[in-house]
Amino acid sequence: MTKKMWAVGEDDGEGWIAVSADTEAAAKRAYTDEWHGADVKVPGHIIAQRVEAWDALTGAPEGKDWLTAGLSYLCEGGCGSMACLDGAGKIIDGKPYCEDCPN
Ligand SMILES: [Zn+2]
Repeated sequence: MTKKMWAVGEDDGEGWIAVSADTEAAAKRAYTDEWHGADVKVPGHIIAQRVEAWDALTGAPEGKDWLTAGLSYLCEGGCGSMACLDGAGKIIDGKPYCEDCPN
C-alpha cells in the first residue's frame, strides 16, 4: 500500500507534525486527534500540505526531511529558532540548523 504523507499544522507555523493519510481531510483529522482530541471539530486554520518526497521514507520524516521538503524544523543548535532552507538555514550531518548555528 502506498503511503501519502502530509505536513499538518496551524497557520502560525508552530507544532507541525508529519501524518500519513489518504486525503487532506483525513490528515487534518489526524492532527486534530493528536493535539486537540478525537471529539473536537477540526479547526479552520489547520493546514495540510502534501509532501510527496516523504512517501518513500520508511520511518517518520527527520528534521532534514522537513527542510528539503521546503518546510521548517526546530534548529538543532539549541537556540529555539526554526531552521529552513529559504533563509540561511543548512543541514549539517543530517541535522537542521538555522542561520546563526552552530556557532
Ligand atoms: Zn539555531
